[in-house]
Amino acid sequence: MENCVFCKIAKGEIPSGKVYEDDEILVFKDIEPLTKIHLLCIPKEHFKTVAELDDARAALLGRALKKIGKLAPSWGLENGYRLVMNQGEEAGQSVPHLHIHILGGERLRWEK
Ligand code: 5GP
Ligand code: ZN
Repeated sequence: MENCVFCKIAKGEIPSGKVYEDDEILVFKDIEPLTKIHLLCIPKEHFKTVAELDDARAALLGRALKKIGKLAPSWGLENGYRLVMNQGEEAGQSVPHLHIHILGGERLRWEK
């Protein structure tokens, strides 16, 4: 999709602190980290939210989670981490390309 910053990152048109890439997903450092370690995992395909999942995209998301689970210790997250997916305006989704925040590197509190 034109003018989507994460599509541009996926195509390598904008540099990112990439920590993992394969044919269908990319994991890179968030430009404004909220925690000591803050990564983003995106599918290379552009879609905005889980409302747009079909079977193929759901399977892709499953593979992305499996990959995160396998590689998290190599990113310094062996003691745990939080996965967050903001969906839409009220959740504060600022980039309309599905992404999984991977947050950790410090003890996190769950604020209410
Ligand atoms: P959202 O608020 O949509 O859930 O999360 C978007 C995230 O993308 C934010 O944490 C923001 O810091 C990050 N972000 C926005 N633009 C860029 C960019 O150009 N490069 C990187 N690495 N992260 C970005
Ligand atoms: Zn996109």
